[in-house]
Parts: sequence; C-alpha cells; structure tokens
Amino acid sequence: MKTLILDENDIEKAAEIIKNGGLVAMPTETVYGLAANALDGNAVARIFKAKGRPMDNPLIVHISDISQIDSLVREFPEKARILAEKFWAGPLTMILPKSDIIPDEVSAGLDTVAIRFPSNKIAQALIAKSMPLAAPSANLSGSPSPTNARHVFDDMNGRIDAIIDGGECEVGVESTVITLATDIPRLLRPGGITVEQLSRGRCGIVL
Ligand code: AMP
Ligand code: MG
Repeated sequence: MKTLILDENDIEKAAEIIKNGGLVAMPTETVYGLAANALDGNAVARIFKAKGRPMDNPLIVHISDISQIDSLVREFPEKARILAEKFWAGPLTMILPKSDIIPDEVSAGLDTVAIRFPSNKIAQALIAKSMPLAAPSANLSGSPSPTNARHVFDDMNGRIDAIIDGGECEVGVESTVITLATDIPRLLRPGGITVEQLSRGRCGIVL
C-alpha cells in the first residue's frame, strides 16, 4: 500500500479515505493518532492490524462537537458534563457507558467507551468532515508515541492510507484517562491534564 503524505489543505481527501473504511494518521495536541471510522468495525479492525495492537486493548473515540456524544453513550452524567465544559477541547478522555452503535472492536467487548474532544484544529476538521474517529497513537505497538509526521512515517509507511502532516504536537504526552462509568470517578491513566486540575474548583472530582 502506498501511504499518501497530506497536509492541512487535504482534509477533504483524508475524509474520503475515512469514509471508504481507510486509515489516516492525524495530528492531535497530545500525539499523532491513527484514525478510522469509529462506527465501522471492519475499519477499526484495520487499526489493530496496522499497529500490531492486541484486540483486547480498547480505543478512544474522538469527537469535534459535544453534541456528537449523545449517540455514542447511554448516559452523560452531570459530573462528565462539568468536566467536558472545563477541559474540552483538550487532553482529557472520559470513559462512559457505551451505546449500541459503538462496535465491539472499539470497546474490546466492554460495556463502556472512551471519548475525547481534541483541541488540534486539523483533527477537529477531519472529524467534522467525516465522523467520530477511533484513534490510538500512530506507532507500532510497543514503540514510542509519535509527536511528528516523520515518526509516524518511520513506523507506518506502507501500512496505512495516509498521514496528515500537521507539525509537532504541542502537549507531546497522552491524554489523561478517567472513568465516569463507576459510582466513584477513577483515574486510569495520568496524562496532559493533572489530577490537581481535575480536583480544583466546582467540578470537584477527587480521584
Ligand atoms: P491509547 O489509545 O493506546 O493511547 O490508549 C487508550 C487508553 O484508554 C488505554 O489505556 C485503554 O486501556 C484505555 N481505554 C480505552 N477505552 C477504555 C474503556 N472502555 N475502559 C477502560 N479503559 C479504556
Ligand atoms: Mg499508544
């Protein structure tokens, strides 16, 4: 497979690839993500193959508008709404009870789904022009997460349809993952938003 190198002017082309079930590496503010249509189980399965990622490791679904969350989850609790208002768009991922349209490939068979609203404008434009995107980091499983298009190319050339070169990632570390699918919110992975930030002010999340 020939891997196309695209830039911010090629969002339409990248969206077409996504709509046809293909894989596009896109910049986000954390690290580069390897994106596919989050609602197409076959497309999502290709992500696992390209990365060599075990199928039991669930993926994060990326949105570009808060209203998109309604069809993806069964519940959007008040605590999650407050956190979304405060930290989205940005490097916070929230685990919520999933709706039936989320394929098992995304959730690894769990009853929950991870959702994030990235602040990177290229990622937002690609999602807006296509659909919510499932996207883990765009590296071979076990390798460091890529923070520029050259890193992605070194791991993924010939394995994916396209890479959108959007320069260096600003944050450079993964998103913070918290679950709101349990009675008491829990931190699952530290990242770009700190626990201190999460517990400050009126959201009052104590993890
Ligand atoms: P990555 O895509 O490799 O940056 O990692 C995504 C992280 O989110 C991993 O640590 C996953 O285990 C975690 N994750 C994704 N979906 C879920 C879920 N439904 N429940 C718990 N953890 C999840
Ligand atoms: Mg990763």
